[in-house]
Parts: sequence; structure tokens; C-alpha cells
Amino acid sequence: MRMKTVIIGGVAGGMSAATRLRRLDESAEIVVLERSGHVSFANCGLPYYVGGVITDRQSLLLQTPASLKARFDLDVRVNSEAIAIDPAAKTVSVTNLADGTHYTESYDSLILAPGAAPFVPPIPGAERALTLRNIADVDAMAAAVGDGRPRTAVIMGGGFIGVELAENLVHRGFEVTIVELADQLLAPLDVEMAALVEKKLIAGGVKVVTGASVTAIEESSVTLSDGGTLAAGLVIAAIGVRPETSLAQAAGLELGERGGILVDEHQRTSDPSIFAVGDAVVKRDVITGAQALVPLAGPANRHGRLVADVIAGRPAAAKPVLGTAVVGVFGLVAAATGWTEKRARAAGRAIRVIHTHPANHAGYYPGAESMSLKLVVDAETDAILGAQGIGGSGVDKRIDVIATAIRGGITASELVDLELSYAPQFSSAKDPVNMLGYIAENLRDGLTETIQWHEVAAEVARGVQLIDVRTPGEYARGTVDGAINIPVDELRDRLDEVADEVIVHCQVGLRGYLAARTLAQHGRTVRNLDGGYRTWARV
Ligand code: FAD
Repeated sequence: MRMKTVIIGGVAGGMSAATRLRRLDESAEIVVLERSGHVSFANCGLPYYVGGVITDRQSLLLQTPASLKARFDLDVRVNSEAIAIDPAAKTVSVTNLADGTHYTESYDSLILAPGAAPFVPPIPGAERALTLRNIADVDAMAAAVGDGRPRTAVIMGGGFIGVELAENLVHRGFEVTIVELADQLLAPLDVEMAALVEKKLIAGGVKVVTGASVTAIEESSVTLSDGGTLAAGLVIAAIGVRPETSLAQAAGLELGERGGILVDEHQRTSDPSIFAVGDAVVKRDVITGAQALVPLAGPANRHGRLVADVIAGRPAAAKPVLGTAVVGVFGLVAAATGWTEKRARAAGRAIRVIHTHPANHAGYYPGAESMSLKLVVDAETDAILGAQGIGGSGVDKRIDVIATAIRGGITASELVDLELSYAPQFSSAKDPVNMLGYIAENLRDGLTETIQWHEVAAEVARGVQLIDVRTPGEYARGTVDGAINIPVDELRDRLDEVADEVIVHCQVGLRGYLAARTLAQHGRTVRNLDGGYRTWARV
């Protein structure tokens, strides 16, 4: 007998499940119900179509029902909304949105892949706010961008989609303001790393307002929580997404603490015949195994493929998620994986934090670019909790290597032993990831002690001596508040000027480390400012 699988949602998770199932089971009957007019479209490319970077709308439409029928023998129905599930009868009620008719579809297995909906705050005028999720949205946004109205835009929300849209609207000649309620953009980054992205946005012409929200949307402006107003011919809501759980909830399926559909490691819901994947489901956090909502394409595609394996009877189990993500902002790359420092501290973890500012490849080879890397390490186990990177070329590679290390259980100190590809135009013989390992090892072994950028002021106020070990010229151009200057090369001759307890700093942390080793061997209690002046000053 042909086994029948019905899939609700025909984009990332749903279509990965459908095509994998066909590859595994030529006899399966596979029906895909998609509410919108398109399946398998490139949602991650939508902001770039708005900005005119992607010019061919057709290139966003990766597949059609006809192409999916031809290649995979899938029964794909667009404009078809699943409106109810009857788990006892194993049926789905469907509305054909094209003609308003209703019908019932039976299933042996049901896969829910309905994604997550953009959240629009319930404020006056909210109906004027545009959101970006699907092809209909991008058509509406592209029409609004090109309609010749005053070219001002306010984007509510400084997450990934918000900053991508900001850049793309600047490309289209808009004066853009991002309004973000938190005190920083891009929540998956720590504040000092996000500050670098904010600087790049501002340099690109975007106005950034943090610590405020839009409280009302008027005809051509918005009002902010701080009482200010901004001209806003265009208003976009990009303040996050909510898992689409109404169908699951109405069917009595169990939800997680944070609202997503609860699934086991086989992506099975509380009903044994119903599976769920993608943005709509709760995932397991890689560090603690706790429930987490991670609306990213990688996990949606991976779990879509996995659920097909499970239905086809193959052994498969979902791994916890790291939330590895990357975004481009006016040529700057910002990437992150795992936990931030703020999250680790909020969870009460004892941590070590490492900031470095290496070049992406050998400095002597033309075109070297500097990047800022951050590693968050469990102080008790040396496990890598997370990493962040901001810079140009090669940032995504380093974060991906560290994400791989986390998945493989490689500790921070073991990054030393990763044998990574090297030639001068690509890296250094000690790759930036190896360097993070060397520092982690030194910290683990107590060879050096560091202090974080946000801890220095209190220590200086306590009377601890702060020495800038850079050159007098560098010192004159700007130093950490309260620092005196003794260049590293003069330290051994000027030990009488050095107090018993001292903090040293240089530009990025390396000369500070050398100074710290020298002073420690001369009996001083020394801490080196992690990441140096660059991290402290966020430059
Ligand atoms: P979706 O891909 O959203 O698909 C769900 C589908 O289900 C929708 O088409 C919806 O119409 C349909 N549906 C819902 N309810 C019903 C119903 N009752 N009946 C029938 N159909 C229904 N992630 C990244 O990792 N990197 C990126 O760069 C990135 N950029 C993004 C940019 C934008 C503008 C957006 C919107 C998202 C981006 N994402 C990115 C997130 C990524 O697209 C999602 O994580 C991923 O698509 C989730 O897959 P999914 O299958 O769960 O949901």
C-alpha cells in the first residue's frame, strides 16, 4: 500500500522533507500544501531583491509545482491553506484560496513546516507597516520602494533582516533609520561587537536609534517612545518572528515553554503520526539542551531532510542547534555561533572571554584586512561556549571553523591543534583560530591573566595602576582612561615606575601579553586588557 505523507508549508523545511522523502521512497504519495502562491522560494534573498542587488524576480523562485512534479513526482498545491488537523481521523482540512472551496486530505504521516510569522506590534497605524516573509511581501515592498513617495524609511528592529533591509534601502536612495528597543543591534552579538556593526551602518548613511521603540505610525512619520518623531514614507516591521503554532495548538499538540511546537529528537510531536520542523518548532540548545527558538534556514533544511529519513524508517536523530549565523552590512561581515558573553553571564556560568584583532591573512601579502574575533569559554571545562567575528574577508570561515569545533567537542585550548589551510593570501601559519587557542591555553594554564574592557574603570578607580605599553605616538593618539605610558621595550629599565598590582594594555593585546609576562616574572601582579585599546574603544 502507498504510504501518504502530507506536508504543510512548502519552503525551507517542508520542501527539504518532500524531496528527500521522494529520494528515499519512490512509492510514497507526497502532498505539499502551501498557503502562499509560491513554493521553494529564496526567502533569504528577498532583502536583496528590494535593494536591486538581485534584479531578476524569477531567480527567487527556485522551483514551481510543475518542476517539482516533473522531477520529484510531488503533488504540490499552492494557494492551499491547511485550516485544521484531526489527529484522530488523521485528516487535514484544506481551503483552496484560489476558489474558496474546502476539502479534506487524509494522511499516514503529517509534517508541519509552517514557519514563523513576522511580529507586528499592536500600535496605532500598525497596518501601514510592511513585513518581509514571502514573494507577495517582497512584491509589495518593491512597489512601495519604487512608488516615488518621500524617500524616508523607518525600520523597526535591528536584527538580521532589519540591518539587511537598511543597507538595501540605502542602495535605493532612502534615508533610513533603524529603531531598536534594546541598547544594541543584532542580539546574537555582544554589545562591543555589535557597536562595530552600528558604526558601519552609520558610515553607510543609516541612522540608528537604540533604547527606543516606535509607539505610533502616522501617515508619513512615526512617533518614538522617547517622544521624538521621524519622517517615514516607508515603515517596516522587522522586530522578530513568532512560530506559527495555531494549527498545532488547535489539534492539541504540545507546545514548548517559548511557544514553538514541541518535538523529540526525531522531530515527532506529541502525536506519533505528526512531525514538525523549521521555525515553528522548539529546538534544543547546544550548550544546555534547553528549549530554544532558532529561526534559521540551516536547521530548517537539516531537520526537513531528517524527518524524511525518520518517516522512511532510517535511523536519524536531530542534534542540538548552535544558532550559527552571518550577515553582511556594507561590506562588513558579522558572524556568530553559540552563546554570547551576556548570555553566559546571565546563566551564571564562570567564563573566560578572549578578544583578538588578527589580520585575515599574512600582513606582508597585499590586501590584508583586520577582523575582530571573540571567544567565550567555560572556565571550568575549557569548552567553547560561543564565538563572534566582525570584519571583512575570512570572518565567516573562522566562525564556521569554531562552530565545527563546538559540534565536535573540541575545547578552546585544542584550537591550537587544528591544522588549517595556509598560504599568505589566505591565512597565517598560525591561523586566527589557532591564535584563539594559544590564548585560551595560556589563560587555562594561568600563564597570563586578562581583564575585560568593561572591568577596567572600576579597577583604576580602586587605585590599580594602568600602563599603556604602546609607543608614545600611539599613546598620544588616544589611550584607555587613566593610563600612563611605558612602552613595552622600555619596561625592564623602568621597573621602578611599576606598582605591585598593575593592568597593562596595548593596541590589540599582544604587546600587553609580552609586558605581562615580563612583569609577572619581576614579581608584579599583572592583568592584560583583553583585546587591547581596540576592544576598549570599539574601534
Ligand atoms: P518557511 O520557509 O517560512 O516556510 C513556511 C511556509 O509555510 C510558508 O511559505 C507559509 O506560507 C506556509 N504555511 C504556513 N501556514 C500554513 C498553512 N496553514 N497552510 C499551508 N501553508 C502554510 N535564515 C538564514 O539562516 N540566513 C539568512 O540569511 C536568512 N535570511 C532571511 C531573510 C528573510 C527576509 C527571511 C524572511 C528569513 C530569512 N532567514 C534566514 C530565515 C529562514 O528563511 C527561515 O529560518 C526558514 O525559511 C524557515 O523554514 P520553515 O520551513 O520553517 O519556514
